[in-house]
Amino acid sequence: FVKERGRNGYAFFEAKMEEKSLERILLENELRKAIQLEQFHIDYQPKIDLSKNKLIGMEALVRWNHPELGKISPNKFIPLAEETGLILPLGEWVLRRGCEQNKEWQDKGYTPLKISINLSARQISYPDIVRKIEEILIETKLEPEWLELEVTESIFVNIENAITVLQQLRDLGVHISIDDFGTGYSSFSYIKHLPVDTLKIDASFIRDIHQNKESQAIVQAVLTLSQTLGINVIAEGVENQRQLDVLREDGCSQGQGFLFSKPLSSQDFEEYLKESVRATGIKEID
Ligand code: C2E
Ligand code: MG
Ligand code: MG
Ligand code: MG
Repeated sequence: FVKERGRNGYAFFEAKMEEKSLERILLENELRKAIQLEQFHIDYQPKIDLSKNKLIGMEALVRWNHPELGKISPNKFIPLAEETGLILPLGEWVLRRGCEQNKEWQDKGYTPLKISINLSARQISYPDIVRKIEEILIETKLEPEWLELEVTESIFVNIENAITVLQQLRDLGVHISIDDFGTGYSSFSYIKHLPVDTLKIDASFIRDIHQNKESQAIVQAVLTLSQTLGINVIAEGVENQRQLDVLREDGCSQGQGFLFSKPLSSQDFEEYLKESVRATGIKEID
Protein backbone atom coordinates (compact mmCIF):
# COMPACT_ATOMS: atom_id res chain seq x y z
CA PHE A 1 0.00 0.00 0.00
CA VAL A 2 2.75 2.36 1.00
CA LYS A 3 4.68 1.47 -2.13
CA GLU A 4 1.60 2.07 -4.22
CA ARG A 5 1.06 5.46 -2.75
CA GLY A 6 4.71 6.24 -3.13
CA ARG A 7 4.60 5.40 -6.79
CA ASN A 8 1.47 7.45 -7.38
CA GLY A 9 2.95 10.29 -5.43
CA TYR A 10 6.07 10.13 -7.51
CA ALA A 11 4.18 9.98 -10.79
CA PHE A 12 2.09 12.90 -9.68
CA PHE A 13 5.20 14.85 -8.73
CA GLU A 14 6.84 14.04 -12.06
CA ALA A 15 3.78 15.16 -14.01
CA LYS A 16 3.71 18.40 -12.04
CA MET A 17 7.37 19.03 -12.84
CA GLU A 18 6.84 18.42 -16.54
CA GLU A 19 3.83 20.69 -16.56
CA LYS A 20 5.83 23.39 -14.88
CA SER A 21 8.81 23.23 -17.15
CA LEU A 22 6.54 23.13 -20.18
CA GLU A 23 4.79 26.25 -18.97
CA ARG A 24 8.18 27.78 -18.37
CA ILE A 25 9.43 26.93 -21.84
CA LEU A 26 6.26 28.32 -23.38
CA LEU A 27 6.50 31.51 -21.38
CA GLU A 28 10.18 31.90 -22.17
CA ASN A 29 9.38 31.63 -25.88
CA GLU A 30 6.58 34.14 -25.55
CA LEU A 31 8.87 36.48 -23.63
CA ARG A 32 11.51 36.24 -26.35
CA LYS A 33 8.90 37.10 -28.99
CA ALA A 34 7.45 39.88 -26.87
CA ILE A 35 10.85 41.54 -26.59
CA GLN A 36 11.29 41.47 -30.37
CA LEU A 37 7.78 42.80 -30.93
CA GLU A 38 8.07 45.37 -28.10
CA GLN A 39 4.87 44.05 -26.58
CA PHE A 40 5.55 45.90 -23.32
CA HIS A 41 4.58 49.21 -21.90
CA ILE A 42 5.43 51.12 -18.74
CA ASP A 43 3.17 52.29 -15.95
CA TYR A 44 4.31 55.19 -13.78
CA GLN A 45 3.63 55.38 -10.06
CA PRO A 46 3.89 58.77 -8.32
CA LYS A 47 6.32 59.35 -5.45
CA ILE A 48 5.25 61.96 -2.93
CA ASP A 49 6.99 64.41 -0.60
CA LEU A 50 5.07 63.77 2.62
CA SER A 51 5.59 67.15 4.25
CA LYS A 52 4.73 69.25 1.19
CA ASN A 53 2.25 66.73 -0.25
CA LYS A 54 3.97 67.24 -3.55
CA LEU A 55 4.82 65.00 -6.49
CA ILE A 56 8.59 64.42 -6.61
CA GLY A 57 9.02 61.60 -9.07
CA MET A 58 7.68 58.35 -10.44
CA GLU A 59 8.67 54.72 -10.61
CA ALA A 60 8.64 53.00 -13.98
CA LEU A 61 6.96 49.59 -13.73
CA VAL A 62 7.05 47.37 -16.79
CA ARG A 63 3.80 45.78 -18.02
CA TRP A 64 3.25 42.86 -20.36
CA ASN A 65 -0.14 42.47 -21.95
CA HIS A 66 0.07 39.25 -23.95
CA PRO A 67 -2.38 39.10 -26.91
CA GLU A 68 -3.76 35.67 -25.79
CA LEU A 69 -2.59 35.15 -22.22
CA GLY A 70 -3.62 38.62 -21.09
CA LYS A 71 -1.80 40.62 -18.44
CA ILE A 72 1.16 38.79 -16.94
CA SER A 73 2.53 40.04 -13.62
CA PRO A 74 6.13 41.27 -13.46
CA ASN A 75 6.46 39.04 -10.39
CA LYS A 76 6.10 36.16 -12.86
CA PHE A 77 8.02 37.30 -15.94
CA ILE A 78 10.83 39.36 -14.35
CA PRO A 79 12.30 36.34 -12.48
CA LEU A 80 12.05 34.33 -15.71
CA ALA A 81 13.70 37.15 -17.65
CA GLU A 82 16.47 37.18 -15.04
CA GLU A 83 17.04 33.42 -15.22
CA THR A 84 17.16 33.39 -19.01
CA GLY A 85 19.20 36.56 -19.46
CA LEU A 86 16.30 38.17 -21.35
CA ILE A 87 16.35 40.85 -18.64
CA LEU A 88 19.23 42.48 -20.53
CA PRO A 89 17.28 43.42 -23.68
CA LEU A 90 14.06 43.94 -21.70
CA GLY A 91 15.79 46.09 -19.09
CA GLU A 92 17.46 48.12 -21.81
CA TRP A 93 14.09 48.73 -23.42
CA VAL A 94 12.62 49.94 -20.10
CA LEU A 95 15.60 52.23 -19.51
CA ARG A 96 15.39 53.78 -22.97
CA ARG A 97 11.61 54.15 -23.00
CA GLY A 98 11.49 55.51 -19.43
CA CYS A 99 14.21 58.10 -20.03
CA GLU A 100 12.64 59.10 -23.36
CA GLN A 101 9.22 59.53 -21.74
CA ASN A 102 10.62 61.55 -18.84
CA LYS A 103 12.44 63.85 -21.25
CA GLU A 104 9.25 64.21 -23.30
CA TRP A 105 7.34 65.40 -20.22
CA GLN A 106 10.12 67.85 -19.38
CA ASP A 107 10.05 69.21 -22.93
CA LYS A 108 6.30 69.75 -22.62
CA GLY A 109 7.09 72.08 -19.74
CA TYR A 110 6.09 70.05 -16.70
CA THR A 111 8.23 70.50 -13.61
CA PRO A 112 11.21 68.15 -14.01
CA LEU A 113 10.79 64.89 -12.09
CA LYS A 114 13.11 62.06 -11.23
CA ILE A 115 12.22 58.78 -12.89
CA SER A 116 13.11 55.63 -10.95
CA ILE A 117 13.90 52.55 -12.97
CA ASN A 118 14.38 49.07 -11.49
CA LEU A 119 17.66 47.36 -12.31
CA SER A 120 18.05 43.67 -11.57
CA ALA A 121 21.20 42.02 -10.20
CA ARG A 122 21.83 40.44 -13.58
CA GLN A 123 21.94 43.90 -15.18
CA ILE A 124 24.35 45.20 -12.53
CA SER A 125 26.78 42.37 -13.26
CA TYR A 126 26.58 42.96 -17.01
CA PRO A 127 30.05 44.37 -17.82
CA ASP A 128 28.78 47.09 -20.17
CA ILE A 129 25.94 48.39 -17.98
CA VAL A 130 27.53 51.75 -17.15
CA ARG A 131 28.40 52.50 -20.77
CA LYS A 132 24.91 51.39 -21.82
CA ILE A 133 23.19 53.72 -19.38
CA GLU A 134 25.44 56.60 -20.38
CA GLU A 135 24.60 55.90 -24.03
CA ILE A 136 20.85 55.90 -23.27
CA LEU A 137 21.12 59.21 -21.41
CA ILE A 138 22.95 60.79 -24.31
CA GLU A 139 20.53 59.35 -26.86
CA THR A 140 17.43 60.47 -25.00
CA LYS A 141 19.01 63.78 -23.91
CA LEU A 142 17.84 63.23 -20.33
CA GLU A 143 20.08 64.88 -17.74
CA PRO A 144 21.47 62.15 -15.40
CA GLU A 145 20.12 63.92 -12.30
CA TRP A 146 16.58 63.00 -13.46
CA LEU A 147 17.31 59.29 -13.44
CA GLU A 148 17.34 57.09 -10.36
CA LEU A 149 18.14 53.40 -10.42
CA GLU A 150 16.46 51.08 -7.94
CA VAL A 151 18.56 48.04 -7.05
CA THR A 152 17.87 45.40 -4.43
CA GLU A 153 20.20 44.18 -1.73
CA SER A 154 20.71 40.96 -3.73
CA ILE A 155 23.40 42.77 -5.75
CA PHE A 156 25.61 42.87 -2.63
CA VAL A 157 26.21 39.12 -2.91
CA ASN A 158 28.97 40.32 -5.20
CA ILE A 159 29.82 43.35 -3.11
CA GLU A 160 33.07 44.39 -4.83
CA ASN A 161 31.44 44.57 -8.24
CA ALA A 162 28.29 46.19 -6.88
CA ILE A 163 30.21 49.01 -5.20
CA THR A 164 32.33 49.63 -8.29
CA VAL A 165 29.32 49.77 -10.61
CA LEU A 166 27.19 51.91 -8.27
CA GLN A 167 30.11 54.33 -7.85
CA GLN A 168 30.54 54.60 -11.63
CA LEU A 169 26.83 55.21 -12.07
CA ARG A 170 26.90 57.92 -9.43
CA ASP A 171 29.90 59.48 -11.14
CA LEU A 172 27.65 59.81 -14.19
CA GLY A 173 25.28 61.83 -12.01
CA VAL A 174 22.60 59.15 -11.68
CA HIS A 175 20.93 58.50 -8.29
CA ILE A 176 20.90 55.12 -6.57
CA SER A 177 18.16 53.72 -4.38
CA ILE A 178 18.09 50.44 -2.45
CA ASP A 179 14.71 48.85 -3.16
CA ASP A 180 12.87 46.52 -0.75
CA PHE A 181 15.28 47.68 1.95
CA GLY A 182 15.28 45.53 5.07
CA THR A 183 14.45 42.24 3.40
CA GLY A 184 17.89 41.31 2.11
CA TYR A 185 21.54 40.96 2.96
CA SER A 186 22.56 44.48 3.96
CA SER A 187 23.59 44.98 7.51
CA PHE A 188 23.26 48.41 8.98
CA SER A 189 26.99 48.55 9.67
CA TYR A 190 28.09 48.53 6.07
CA ILE A 191 25.43 50.73 4.50
CA LYS A 192 27.74 53.66 5.17
CA HIS A 193 30.29 52.23 2.75
CA LEU A 194 27.79 51.96 -0.07
CA PRO A 195 27.40 54.63 -2.73
CA VAL A 196 23.65 55.09 -2.35
CA ASP A 197 21.33 58.10 -2.15
CA THR A 198 18.09 56.57 -0.93
CA LEU A 199 16.80 53.65 1.11
CA LYS A 200 13.38 52.46 0.01
CA ILE A 201 11.77 50.75 3.00
CA ASP A 202 10.11 47.50 1.95
CA ALA A 203 6.32 47.41 1.85
CA SER A 204 6.24 44.49 4.31
CA PHE A 205 7.27 46.87 7.14
CA ILE A 206 4.76 49.52 6.07
CA ARG A 207 1.85 47.09 5.76
CA ASP A 208 1.41 46.69 9.54
CA ILE A 209 3.37 49.70 10.80
CA HIS A 210 0.23 51.09 12.46
CA GLN A 211 -0.49 47.79 14.25
CA ASN A 212 2.87 46.19 14.88
CA LYS A 213 5.46 47.71 17.21
CA GLU A 214 8.27 45.64 15.69
CA SER A 215 7.61 46.91 12.19
CA GLN A 216 7.48 50.45 13.50
CA ALA A 217 10.74 49.93 15.38
CA ILE A 218 12.45 48.70 12.21
CA VAL A 219 11.18 51.69 10.25
CA GLN A 220 12.35 54.04 13.00
CA ALA A 221 15.78 52.40 12.97
CA VAL A 222 16.06 52.89 9.20
CA LEU A 223 15.00 56.53 9.58
CA THR A 224 17.63 57.13 12.28
CA LEU A 225 20.30 55.39 10.24
CA SER A 226 19.52 57.45 7.16
CA GLN A 227 19.52 60.70 9.12
CA THR A 228 22.94 59.86 10.53
CA LEU A 229 24.28 59.02 7.09
CA GLY A 230 22.52 61.90 5.37
CA ILE A 231 20.61 59.79 2.87
CA ASN A 232 16.96 59.90 1.76
CA VAL A 233 14.25 57.50 2.79
CA ILE A 234 11.06 56.56 1.01
CA ALA A 235 8.34 54.24 2.27
CA GLU A 236 6.79 51.94 -0.32
CA GLY A 237 3.37 50.33 -0.24
CA VAL A 238 1.59 53.09 1.69
CA GLU A 239 -2.06 52.11 1.42
CA ASN A 240 -3.96 53.90 4.16
CA GLN A 241 -4.10 57.08 6.21
CA ARG A 242 -3.14 55.39 9.49
CA GLN A 243 0.12 54.12 7.99
CA LEU A 244 0.79 57.60 6.63
CA ASP A 245 0.14 59.19 10.03
CA VAL A 246 2.70 56.93 11.72
CA LEU A 247 5.25 57.55 8.96
CA ARG A 248 4.81 61.33 9.23
CA GLU A 249 5.07 61.19 13.02
CA ASP A 250 8.31 59.21 12.76
CA GLY A 251 9.75 61.74 10.31
CA CYS A 252 9.65 59.80 7.06
CA SER A 253 9.88 62.37 4.27
CA GLN A 254 8.74 60.46 1.18
CA GLY A 255 6.15 57.87 0.27
CA GLN A 256 4.74 55.80 -2.55
CA GLY A 257 1.67 53.59 -2.62
CA PHE A 258 -1.97 53.09 -3.52
CA LEU A 259 -3.00 55.78 -0.99
CA PHE A 260 -1.49 58.39 -3.29
CA SER A 261 -1.93 56.62 -6.60
CA LYS A 262 -1.75 53.26 -8.31
CA PRO A 263 0.75 52.90 -11.14
CA LEU A 264 -0.71 54.85 -14.10
CA SER A 265 -0.47 54.48 -17.87
CA SER A 266 1.58 57.22 -19.51
CA GLN A 267 -1.64 58.95 -20.62
CA ASP A 268 -3.10 58.85 -17.11
CA PHE A 269 0.19 59.93 -15.57
CA GLU A 270 0.17 62.96 -17.85
CA GLU A 271 -3.34 63.79 -16.63
CA TYR A 272 -1.99 63.45 -13.10
CA LEU A 273 0.80 65.89 -14.00
CA LYS A 274 -1.78 68.38 -15.27
CA GLU A 275 -3.75 67.98 -12.03
CA SER A 276 -0.69 68.64 -9.90
CA VAL A 277 0.09 71.67 -12.04
CA ARG A 278 -3.45 72.94 -11.38
CA ALA A 279 -2.93 72.31 -7.66
CA THR A 280 0.41 74.12 -7.45
CA GLY A 281 0.06 76.53 -10.37
CA ILE A 282 3.55 75.83 -11.66
CA LYS A 283 2.65 75.51 -15.31
CA GLU A 284 -0.08 77.20 -17.31
CA ILE A 285 -2.30 74.71 -19.08
CA ASP A 286 -3.79 75.75 -22.39
P1 C2E B 1 9.15 46.89 -6.77
O1 C2E B 1 10.19 47.56 -7.57
O2 C2E B 1 9.38 46.76 -5.32
O3 C2E B 1 7.82 47.68 -7.11
C1 C2E B 1 6.76 47.87 -6.21
C2 C2E B 1 5.58 46.97 -6.51
O4 C2E B 1 4.55 47.22 -5.57
C3 C2E B 1 4.96 47.19 -7.88
O5 C2E B 1 4.44 45.93 -8.30
C4 C2E B 1 3.80 48.15 -7.56
O6 C2E B 1 2.76 48.11 -8.49
C5 C2E B 1 3.35 47.60 -6.22
N1 C2E B 1 2.70 48.61 -5.36
C6 C2E B 1 2.84 49.95 -5.37
N2 C2E B 1 2.13 50.53 -4.39
C7 C2E B 1 1.51 49.53 -3.73
C8 C2E B 1 0.61 49.49 -2.60
O7 C2E B 1 0.25 50.50 -1.99
N3 C2E B 1 0.18 48.26 -2.20
C9 C2E B 1 0.57 47.10 -2.84
N4 C2E B 1 0.09 45.95 -2.39
N5 C2E B 1 1.42 47.11 -3.91
C10 C2E B 1 1.88 48.30 -4.34
P2 C2E B 1 4.63 45.41 -9.79
O8 C2E B 1 4.45 46.55 -10.74
O9 C2E B 1 3.77 44.21 -9.94
O10 C2E B 1 6.16 44.99 -9.84
C11 C2E B 1 6.64 43.95 -9.05
C12 C2E B 1 8.15 43.89 -9.08
O11 C2E B 1 8.61 43.57 -10.39
C13 C2E B 1 8.83 45.21 -8.73
O12 C2E B 1 8.88 45.40 -7.33
C14 C2E B 1 10.20 44.97 -9.34
O13 C2E B 1 11.00 44.19 -8.49
C15 C2E B 1 9.86 44.17 -10.58
N6 C2E B 1 9.83 45.07 -11.75
C16 C2E B 1 8.81 45.82 -12.23
N7 C2E B 1 9.21 46.50 -13.34
C17 C2E B 1 10.52 46.19 -13.52
C18 C2E B 1 11.51 46.57 -14.50
O14 C2E B 1 11.29 47.37 -15.41
N8 C2E B 1 12.76 46.00 -14.36
C19 C2E B 1 13.06 45.12 -13.37
N9 C2E B 1 14.31 44.62 -13.31
N10 C2E B 1 12.17 44.77 -12.44
C20 C2E B 1 10.91 45.28 -12.51
MG1 MG C 1 11.20 49.30 -7.36
MG1 MG D 1 10.15 47.58 -3.77
MG1 MG E 1 10.07 44.18 -4.98
